[in-house]
Amino acid sequence: MNLWVTAMHNRWQQTVRLLVLENVLITLIVLFVLQRFSPITWSAGLIGCLVLALLVLAVVEGVVVWVQQTERQKTIDRMEAKLRQMSSQQFPPHILLPQADPLYSLAQAVNQLESYQKHQTRRAELQEKELMMIMRYLPVGVMVIDHRRQVQLSNPAMSELLQGSINTVAHIYTKDIQLYALTKLIEDTIATQSNQRATVTLTPAPNTQVVEASTVYIQGNRAHYQIVLMLYDITEVYMIEQMQDDFVSNASHELKTPITAIAGFTETLLGGAKDDPETLDQFLHIIADESQRLIDLIQDVLSLSRIRAQNTTKLALKTVVVRDLIDQELAVVQQAVERQQLTVDNQVEASLTVTSDPQKLSQVIKNLLTNAIKYNRANGKVTLTSTISEQHWSLIVTDTGIGISADDQQRIFERFYRASPSRSQQLVSGTGLGLAIVKELVGALHGNITVTSQRGVGTTMTVTFPLAESKLA
Ligand code: ADP
Repeated sequence: MNLWVTAMHNRWQQTVRLLVLENVLITLIVLFVLQRFSPITWSAGLIGCLVLALLVLAVVEGVVVWVQQTERQKTIDRMEAKLRQMSSQQFPPHILLPQADPLYSLAQAVNQLESYQKHQTRRAELQEKELMMIMRYLPVGVMVIDHRRQVQLSNPAMSELLQGSINTVAHIYTKDIQLYALTKLIEDTIATQSNQRATVTLTPAPNTQVVEASTVYIQGNRAHYQIVLMLYDITEVYMIEQMQDDFVSNASHELKTPITAIAGFTETLLGGAKDDPETLDQFLHIIADESQRLIDLIQDVLSLSRIRAQNTTKLALKTVVVRDLIDQELAVVQQAVERQQLTVDNQVEASLTVTSDPQKLSQVIKNLLTNAIKYNRANGKVTLTSTISEQHWSLIVTDTGIGISADDQQRIFERFYRASPSRSQQLVSGTGLGLAIVKELVGALHGNITVTSQRGVGTTMTVTFPLAESKLA
């Protein structure tokens, strides 16, 4: 712009010079013509008059040109100021000139440039706003780090995952990220100039938080580059995978025990032990017990996977008389009750009618009853009661058995968990899946289960369900 102003100034000087020259030339031509047709008698007065006339003419023209140039200069100054403001994202009003003005086209071009830049700035602002909005609500943590390892940008999800607020002013990234696995990922990206990916545990158990961390290396001009770090929370998927792995290894382990026993005793019998009738009888009983254990285990595993599969499907709701369901299950376990000479007291009101899935509710009752019998002592007691409030109904199964320690109470609903026999004097066998199945079923019925127990005194299991359409008839 300054160059342009200097050029204009030079032109102004040039114009004045030209005007003077033009006046002198015109005067000389006029004098020459006059001289041809009527010779002029030169006198000092005439020359003086001529010089004066020339001077007056030059002054008048000079004033006119000066006024015009001043006006033009003002317009040029306005344009210069406007262009300067435009470069700092300000947009003053358009410069309006009459069409005859020599700067008209230039002013039009400046106005058009301004309109274009205004439009572009608005577009860029809008795009930035949209980007920030997306970043704000993006469930993935995003952080942009520049070649000086400074954080240029980050979103709320990133602050949440890193459990701390991230300063919006550029700062070194290690202020926010101290975890070695993540800093290594970033440094590897810088060193190798390539994208990286890793599964990173942000918080260890019990509050496990696992993320899939990935970086994108963006090469700018010369030594400038940017790294985009993205953290995607995969805790849920990770936990499910972990549970599936645990389940498979636990199930394999549990299946291996009875199979090994069956294989071992069969081999011993075939090796000659079958010839001793007493050993044969003893070993066959062991084989039968272990086979039964195997069947129970497979049935429980199948039950669990069936419940899981059905969890997403609708419940088969029916009107159920709870006491009748209990009586049906009591009939099934009658033999075990007699074997242990237990007393079973079903105090559930015959009038308690609820809306539930009878198949699922039956299995809950069956598993709780089985445990209350299995872990009871000889001549012990099993009592079934119920309560009903405005919104819920509960079934309470109490036994006078071996009880469960406080530590074990925390874990008995885990798959394959069984209290250690040394701690619980638990002698009966089991799969460790019964209560895991109960928990799944109760969850499917929108209820919950609680346990209270005292070692050597007994256990109370309470299952509570929403009453919803259930009613006490
Ligand atoms: P299982 O009975 O096949 O071992 P469960 O999942 O039904 O598996 O129970 C898990 C563990 O909880 C049992 O091994 C036992 O230690 C404990 N338990 C469950 N119910 C009772 C009870 N009524 N009394 C004492 N211990 C119990």
